[in-house]
Amino acid sequence: MKLGTGKLVIDNGQLVDGRGGTPILNGRLHVEDGKITFSGPAEKSPPFPTGATHINANGGTIMPGLVEAHFHPTYFNVAAIEDLDIKYPVEYVTLLAACNARLALECGYTAARSGGSLFNIDVWLKRAIEEDLVLGPRLAASGREICGVGGLMDWNPDYRRIGMEGLVLLINGPDEARSAVRKLVKDGVEWVKTYPTGDAAAPDANDHHTLCMTFEEMHAVVAMAHNHKLKVTGHCRATEGIKNALRAGYDAIEHGTFMDEEALDLLLTRDVPVVPALYFEYASVARGPEFGMPQSVVDGHQETLEGGAESARRILKAGGRLGMGGDYGFAWNPHGDYARELEFFVNYVGFTPLQTITCATKTGAEILGRDAEIGTLEPGKLADILIVDGNVVENISLLKDRKNFIAVLQGGVIKAGELASRSPAIV
Ligand SMILES: [Zn+2]
Repeated sequence: MKLGTGKLVIDNGQLVDGRGGTPILNGRLHVEDGKITFSGPAEKSPPFPTGATHINANGGTIMPGLVEAHFHPTYFNVAAIEDLDIKYPVEYVTLLAACNARLALECGYTAARSGGSLFNIDVWLKRAIEEDLVLGPRLAASGREICGVGGLMDWNPDYRRIGMEGLVLLINGPDEARSAVRKLVKDGVEWVKTYPTGDAAAPDANDHHTLCMTFEEMHAVVAMAHNHKLKVTGHCRATEGIKNALRAGYDAIEHGTFMDEEALDLLLTRDVPVVPALYFEYASVARGPEFGMPQSVVDGHQETLEGGAESARRILKAGGRLGMGGDYGFAWNPHGDYARELEFFVNYVGFTPLQTITCATKTGAEILGRDAEIGTLEPGKLADILIVDGNVVENISLLKDRKNFIAVLQGGVIKAGELASRSPAIV
């Protein structure tokens, strides 16, 4: 991704640098050739460089670009889980993924970690974004997801003869687990997404308290993935599934729903980040019935919502790390709604806006493994910046509406927001 050239000053706004400290009321940023050179109070800033471009934040908020830590660019407003593997061919899903990537950037998300991809689209989407062919977040790519045979993601009965090869790699035992990871190594993914547990979506055989992989399979995945410098994460709701993942050496936990004391201890000891993705549960309860969701599934999502919210509060209080990501791409939880996750954590879970923003910026960058480059507004980092018209610390809901965005920058280049509509980065 090309960096901006020349000098840029952003001022006249409250500076929220992503590290969680008190916002600087009259903040200023200096950027040179796409990287931040000064971040702090206006009165301490160097003089305005001659010839610099100037962005007036209009008394609003200057903050790091958001990080969507559980992004599915290839999901497309799925109404029934079966839609995922048979609704569209790979050609159309690829185009949808490019549209979703652009939408995420327009929504202020300058980076994203994928939570699983149909086919091998993420890897190529990432390349197209990096080569400035399409707009989108800096992406950490996942691939097809790994699940045990008969587990959550293996829903098509054999008589249908549907291979599901675009969605998931189904495994039986550690040898097949290793074989699946080797396929993903060849595909070029960075994150291996697995299904250690079930979900409320499958109440009959794979509900949210069911295990879908054995510890031995999970351990085999981690050993092979780490050998090839890939990271591993997993859909972990059931308590034993969370513990299996932590003991197997997972690099992140998706959801981390039902955590007991032992699970929390394991998590904190290893300092593994968790991405709860809770608004999805809320949206499933609130809007699922209008899409024909059975009551048993709605009830399971309610239990998941309450368990997940309680675990998130305990993790934060104990000093653990949480990323903000939302499993967007379902009919009741569509792409574009990403910042509802942040609003939900403030209004429902009880985080402060600053805590939530830190999770959605600094911790998100850590999950991507790119915290040396992005996630906070500090000298030396890439100028991935979101400038919002209004006080986000007082009203986190401003982030939901991209009409409030003065500018979204990546590497010092204005890519979206009101200023981009005057000089679009890609026409
Ligand atoms: Zn997901």
